[in-house]
Amino acid sequence: MTAARTSRFYVTTTIPYVNARPHLGFALELVQADVLARHHRRRGEPVRFLSGTDDNSLKNVLAAEAEGIPVQDLVDRNAAAFAALDAPLALSLDDFIRTSRDPRHRAGVERLWLRCAEAGDLYREHYEGLYCVGCEQFYTPDDLVGGRCAEHGTEPRAVAEENWFFRLSRHTGALRALIEDGRLRIEPAARRNEVLALLARGLRDFSVSRSQTRARGWGIPVPGDPEQVIYVWWDALGNYVTSLGYGGPDGDGGAAYDRWWAGDGRRVHLVGKGVLRFHAVYWPAMLLSAGLPLPTDILVHDYLTVEGRKISKSSGTTVDPEELAAEHGTDAVRWWLLREVPRVGDADFTRERLVARADADLAGGLGNLVHRVVTMVHRFRDGVVPAAEGPGEPGTESVLAACQEAPDAVAAALHDVDFRRAAAAVWRIVDEANRCIDETRPWELARAERRQRSACAGHRLDAVLAALVHACRTLAGELEPFLPDAAALIARRCAPCPDGRLPSPAPLFPHSTHRDAAATPGREGGWW
Ligand SMILES: [Zn+2]
Repeated sequence: MTAARTSRFYVTTTIPYVNARPHLGFALELVQADVLARHHRRRGEPVRFLSGTDDNSLKNVLAAEAEGIPVQDLVDRNAAAFAALDAPLALSLDDFIRTSRDPRHRAGVERLWLRCAEAGDLYREHYEGLYCVGCEQFYTPDDLVGGRCAEHGTEPRAVAEENWFFRLSRHTGALRALIEDGRLRIEPAARRNEVLALLARGLRDFSVSRSQTRARGWGIPVPGDPEQVIYVWWDALGNYVTSLGYGGPDGDGGAAYDRWWAGDGRRVHLVGKGVLRFHAVYWPAMLLSAGLPLPTDILVHDYLTVEGRKISKSSGTTVDPEELAAEHGTDAVRWWLLREVPRVGDADFTRERLVARADADLAGGLGNLVHRVVTMVHRFRDGVVPAAEGPGEPGTESVLAACQEAPDAVAAALHDVDFRRAAAAVWRIVDEANRCIDETRPWELARAERRQRSACAGHRLDAVLAALVHACRTLAGELEPFLPDAAALIARRCAPCPDGRLPSPAPLFPHSTHRDAAATPGREGGWW
């Protein structure tokens, strides 16, 4: 793992096309990026977190045609639904770019185009190929599976036209060197190897424009050739620098661009496995051509399935993240995405799994812990948290160790892009604290203190309560990147009021759609 550093951290999601409302698969990427943004902010690093929408996709045009409404209307409506995810998912976005509406974007894309043209990497050529509209990409017969796009399962269309091409082949060697020596880090390793294999096979130049006719007049015209529209991937990939003002009034520079892209900080793209080639090959090659710095990290996630089926807008397997958060709570949605989705391999979503995880971990483990601790501080110490005394009382060592070890364990897991392991590292505190309660049985210490007027039992009880409150306060900090709402609530429950006492105990998740375990007899009942 890396030691704490204070370098700048710029993290982006991909920008999805907006032919429909957002689905849970994209929420995974947003939440993962948000965890990284929050984690690095907590470490005192300057952070910028960007998301946005790919408005200029031909798929948006086709969706608007199907609905019989103007493209801009459809794009505005659906892009608004993506932008509105920040509240239900508790995202800490610093910026959100919309490629059809944002004045920063077009100027930057044009500048990028001109820089590549100046480098001699753009040329016009007649082209015939197989085009998948779903991917917005040309394929060769070798790329297809049984004549169909591997991603969409549809047959690509034969297209013949004169287009602008980008001299991708010229950058193969430079790209390979950058990836091999780690200047361009691709995680996990299997994805890095996938890109290196692609480079080893050799890269073909790719088409970077469409005729106005085929693009239905939607998109950014090629500078100096208005009959052609810039390929939507070229356009979309540019958002990572156009949102920083690249190509704006300050030309190639500008304060935000210099700070977040041209400096020595990290430039991190989170991407789904289906768009790896665009981010790990096309985009770095465009930047090499234009003479701009490359991203430092490309972090690749696999996909979610819903009840065993691939998420597909057409087959009705989409789950609306906003609806899900309204029904089960933001914390429950985030926690399922972070605690259940493995680093490698697809994960299957069902509502039952989300509810079971929220019941067990949030209402049960976490909610129960904080409620019990605050209740005991009130019942046994009139709401005043005892001062911690020296080294741990027997029974409290494990929970104190878990608190101490969590920050490094979380940082190491997040460095490895393993959100599930990071979440588990925080959860060790919950488990150890609950175990500490079960083992030390504070209510018996309180009884002994009362009956025997035993100073010894009183001291022990002070030490146990101090350790437990320390665990809750540590959780409030360490959980912030994962469950920002719950973390803020825990911090308030464990912060003394002006009279020096903790606020009166109340369930942590009172609005959970499922009963709070803290109120369930059996778990809590009869422990004093
Ligand atoms: Zn496709």
